[in-house]
Amino acid sequence: MKGGLVMTASGLYCPAGDFYIDPLRPVERAVITHAHADHARAGSASYLCAREGLALLQARLGPDARIEALAYGEKATRNGVALSLHPAGHIRGSAQVRIAHKGLVTVVSGDYKTVTDPTCTPLAPQRCHAFISESTFGLPIFRWPRADAVMAAINAWWRENREQGRTSILFAYALGKAQRILSGLDPAIGPILTHGAVEKINRVYRRAGVVLPPTQYVGDLQDRKLLRGALVIAPPSADHPAWMRRFPQRSRAFASGWMRIRGHRRRRAVDRGFIISDHSDWDGLIATVAASGAETIGITHGYSAEMVRWLQEQGYDAEAVDATQRAGDENR
Ligand SMILES: [Zn+2]
Ligand SMILES: [Zn+2]
Repeated sequence: MKGGLVMTASGLYCPAGDFYIDPLRPVERAVITHAHADHARAGSASYLCAREGLALLQARLGPDARIEALAYGEKATRNGVALSLHPAGHIRGSAQVRIAHKGLVTVVSGDYKTVTDPTCTPLAPQRCHAFISESTFGLPIFRWPRADAVMAAINAWWRENREQGRTSILFAYALGKAQRILSGLDPAIGPILTHGAVEKINRVYRRAGVVLPPTQYVGDLQDRKLLRGALVIAPPSADHPAWMRRFPQRSRAFASGWMRIRGHRRRRAVDRGFIISDHSDWDGLIATVAASGAETIGITHGYSAEMVRWLQEQGYDAEAVDATQRAGDENR
């Protein structure tokens, strides 16, 4: 138990305000940090999210879901508990949940990253007494190269493949990562094609005013000659023979923080691994914990035991909070 929150079978719960954060099961009142499947589950009676993420969450949960939205920083009250949402910089609409009750401020980070992403509002660190941080990449080996250098490498790989007459297949998570990468591609190199799951999210991003280069759903492609020299963005789940068959001459790459680890690159058997993550790296996690000013730290997701141990060595009152179950490598 950290900062007035308790862990229950349904997930992280605020008893004073009577709401759950990213509940694991259907509940009365759910506060959702962002629209990734391991945080936003269908079936709850009502939802609250950041306005920037409303269209995405509605697309994920369906038109019947009852969703209320708050602007970043806007205050709501639940049973005398002050509740507000603040940018987490993870994907569009991602939010940290700030809870203030009887003078005690608790912030739940959700997933976050500290580097800029043109497709969402940047992380706004919050001062608090208790901070619950994710730790997906909470090991010192995880340090990200500069995102602009990685984007330059992706564009160079694409250009080289085009010159060799190959299709560039880039695997990236359909929600967030794919759009962040799209925003950094150089459309002068060639056509950009998308898997259906990516194109669906692109439409939501564009409707929200995010500028992305022109894309075409690969299933709509008439002129097969365009495949040579094209870049295709697809979710990792599309990497199976039935879907890949249409690209006879190809180079495959995967864009993920996991590409930092050679074993993951080998397991994916891709030609290239680009290290780009929508989660904070080790330095970002430590800096964000420090910026919170909190003495009480809860750690969830990923390498929680390792990060808790490190924080305790630094004098923090830290413990693991298993608020969300890991869902394989999805969305990382
Ligand atoms: Zn996420
Ligand atoms: Zn997550």
